[in-house]
Amino acid sequence: MRRDADVVVVGLGAMGSMALWRLAERGVAAIGVDRFDPPHDRGSSHGESRLFRTAYAEGTSYVPLLREAWRLWRELEASGDVELLTQTGALMVGPRDGVLISGTLASARDHALEHELLDVRAASLRWPQHVLVDGDHVLFEPMAGVLRPEACISTALARARSLGATTRTHTRATVIESDDDSTCVRLEDGSAIRARHAIVAAGAWTGTLLPELAPYLRVERQTTAWFTVDDPRAFSPERFPVFVRELADGRLRYGVPAIDGQTIKIAVHHEGADADPDDLDRTVVERDVVPLEEYATTMLRGVRVPAVRHIVCMYTNTPDEHLLVGPLPARPRVTMAGGCTGHSFKFAPVLGDVAADIATHGTTERDIAALTVDRLLPERVA
Ligand SMILES: Cc1cc2nc3c(=O)[nH]c(=O)nc-3n(C[C@H](O)[C@H](O)[C@H](O)COP(=O)(O)OP(=O)(O)OC[C@H]3O[C@@H](n4cnc5c(N)ncnc54)[C@H](O)[C@@H]3O)c2cc1C
Repeated sequence: MRRDADVVVVGLGAMGSMALWRLAERGVAAIGVDRFDPPHDRGSSHGESRLFRTAYAEGTSYVPLLREAWRLWRELEASGDVELLTQTGALMVGPRDGVLISGTLASARDHALEHELLDVRAASLRWPQHVLVDGDHVLFEPMAGVLRPEACISTALARARSLGATTRTHTRATVIESDDDSTCVRLEDGSAIRARHAIVAAGAWTGTLLPELAPYLRVERQTTAWFTVDDPRAFSPERFPVFVRELADGRLRYGVPAIDGQTIKIAVHHEGADADPDDLDRTVVERDVVPLEEYATTMLRGVRVPAVRHIVCMYTNTPDEHLLVGPLPARPRVTMAGGCTGHSFKFAPVLGDVAADIATHGTTERDIAALTVDRLLPERVA
């Protein structure tokens, strides 16, 4: 059968743009398609910033992938002329036995990552912008920072194109078919792209393209806001590390310094309503803003309310909140890359590289045992 490419990548957001870049670096003939024109604000990769952390409360086994991701972000950065990853360090704040501090500390110790654990007094002297309360502990890790998601995606696509990859934007894939030898991506205009392998990185739309995964993915609406501050220098990337905070009841908030020189960003992790990516409510209402403004006024000093800007974005949650990468058990010529769950952007180049490994060699040397698709589909694996 005639093939249009070796590998077709469906979706060119965070995961897909990185997969296309990593395929192009290998010299693999690859075509990428996207229903919009990435980077765009319709999916899960907009909003100007994403946290990068290496000491990882979500699982100590992520640390080797994070080290690789750091290296790949720097490699991508070197291919363009825009700063993609600004090292600010990260503050994790919360109860000593909460999931955030205990998990971050465990991963830092397991992997001998540089870190400092501070009590309220010491941390308040160093970062007076944060209101700390009795019982809080603060963990600082220097190998953390802010990624610029839109620039990351543009740079990866530009690099992939310069190496020979082709892209088709404003092109929606409707169905992905595959047999033992090949895969066929059918497009909305009635045409099709035939390749040896398909990588599906469709973010919140994954369930539509891969119906076998739909029951396991929950799309969640998320709101983020930007606030002006009394003294922008005190909130600069040099003086105000990215932060994640676990409140006494376990809820999580996070924030980004004033990378624009004016405003800081604050967000709630989870607590959003179920969403339909084709009918996402982008109107920000009071109940979206209240927890963000409450955080700005009670947990930070020198932050002005109301917020000056908001956006709505989407998480695509897996049941165990771990990422998703690997071939579909019943369709080995189709590889899934994503499973956002609100923390996947930082991994995008390494997940893209893993997907490129699988698409070209059928396997990867990286340890992705906890992230593969078959964990969601146990009945299909038995
Ligand atoms: C508010 C918010 C804050 C976050 N903060 C962080 C953070 O601080 N750190 C972190 O590491 N992660 C964070 N994340 C998670 C991270 O940003 C996302 O997991 C990641 O960007 C998702 O990338 P993706 O490639 O899966 O999806 P997307 O980037 O949305 O890409 C999917 C692409 O597929 C395309 N597509 C969909 N369907 C089709 C189709 N049928 N045909 C063709 N194209 C299609 C879409 O147009 C889109 O371009 C955050 C997420 C959100 C929403």
